[in-house]
Amino acid sequence: MKDIGEWLARPGGAERRSGRLPVGTMASGAEITLPYVALRGARPGRTLWLHGQVHGDEINGMVAALRFAAGLEPAQMSGNLVVTPTGNPQALDARRKRNPYDELDLDQTYPGNAGGLISERLAHALFEQVRGVADVLINLHTMNPLFDARPYTVYKLHRESSVDEATLFAAMAPFSPHVACRQDVGGRGELPGNIAGALDYQCLAAGICAFMLELGSGSRLEPDNVALAERGFRALAQQMGILPGSAQALPAGLRRVLRRGWLTANEGGLFVPRVRAGDRVPAGESIGEILQLDGSRSAVPPFTHDGVLIGLRSDPVVHTGERLAFVAWEWDELPLPR
Ligand SMILES: [Zn+2]
Repeated sequence: MKDIGEWLARPGGAERRSGRLPVGTMASGAEITLPYVALRGARPGRTLWLHGQVHGDEINGMVAALRFAAGLEPAQMSGNLVVTPTGNPQALDARRKRNPYDELDLDQTYPGNAGGLISERLAHALFEQVRGVADVLINLHTMNPLFDARPYTVYKLHRESSVDEATLFAAMAPFSPHVACRQDVGGRGELPGNIAGALDYQCLAAGICAFMLELGSGSRLEPDNVALAERGFRALAQQMGILPGSAQALPAGLRRVLRRGWLTANEGGLFVPRVRAGDRVPAGESIGEILQLDGSRSAVPPFTHDGVLIGLRSDPVVHTGERLAFVAWEWDELPLPR
């Protein structure tokens, strides 16, 4: 049942509503639901959908989306806003990325399965609401709590989608991301997993303009990143004609990243960086050193190419094979249409 879409399409004028989509129950009888907030504008128009989190320890996006919705007046709107603050309520309650009852990565399970594991059922319940209703969807994330990052975006391209790269760039521009990463759905150079199961990729397949907005670090509230997201939501809603007024000054262009990967530790110890998240690191430079507990120290091997630090480890405790930095290795500057 498309509860949200049917309500938005109903004539009745400006109204705000919140509710819960039933997904299942726990052994105790506690209900497993997906909460939502929906705002139907006074006049018909497009629908912006903010999905607060798919990973349960990523907080900034859900706070920003709920605050943005709370500050809007449906009578001023031409079109609609939907906020689904969490797609992964059991992981949120457990303060962890994955659902503790099946350990699946929810952002690798869309469009889901109504008869599957609980993460697959949660994915299915959300996607049934989104499909045919959202015009633009933002899949909100942060990095892992052990890393620092400046706000950035990630997007995919879908061969059969009506949504092209220029459309995605126009929607991402209001957030002034320091990099806009084009992610290969094959996952080359990144971590293993089913990238095609991402919510934004499945939205593209369904003709919805969708991307990931990465808002800093997990398991904490970062007020600057929340504020940046709220400003961006407003400008995007103006760009979509949902809110009156014209958008803030947009950046002249975005740095498009075409290849990225993780730099991992060769040896255990305490990682002390000499750079910051967002920095550009020239070939030949090391990003820091590893201190061993016997008092010795060794430099992290220098970069073989220029790189831009998308994410940088802030927890110094590292073992062999653990991640030190998430690095953009290839990029270009793409001007935005005026
Ligand atoms: Zn995430």
